[in-house]
Amino acid sequence: MRGSEKLTKVGLKVTGPRLKVLQIFEAQEHLHLTADDIRRRMLEQDVRISLATLYRVLAHLTELGILHRCIFDGDRAMYELDHGIHDHLICLGCGRVDEFADETIEKRKRITAQASGYALTTHRHTLFGYCSACRASYQPGAAARRPRS
Ligand SMILES: [Zn+2]
Ligand SMILES: [Zn+2]
Repeated sequence: MRGSEKLTKVGLKVTGPRLKVLQIFEAQEHLHLTADDIRRRMLEQDVRISLATLYRVLAHLTELGILHRCIFDGDRAMYELDHGIHDHLICLGCGRVDEFADETIEKRKRITAQASGYALTTHRHTLFGYCSACRASYQPGAAARRPRS
């Protein structure tokens, strides 16, 4: 479903920043973008929006279940089109984000939550490492090695 159809479906006017934000996400598959990324892409298309307005639009689209807000570490909130349960791989070298979905892992998560008496509402599962392009410059253990005194 296109962004405009999604907005119409939830009874929102198909104008302005909301549609622009959705068009940015629909221009490319599996985008994970920070608010700054989105704002920069809008500026490239001569669409000016304050960060405050953008955050309001993002919060609203997230509330409606059109966007999903992922937080990968402390201050790095990224948004993506909500397209069902999946997990992420993040490259510590270039910041690239990949997705994976593994039914066995999903099942284990549910079992783990259940065993601890939790009713699962949401979950995040993120793997950090180095992507195939960055692996060459990454030496395992290099960061932990200390010079001998
Ligand atoms: Zn990388
Ligand atoms: Zn994702």
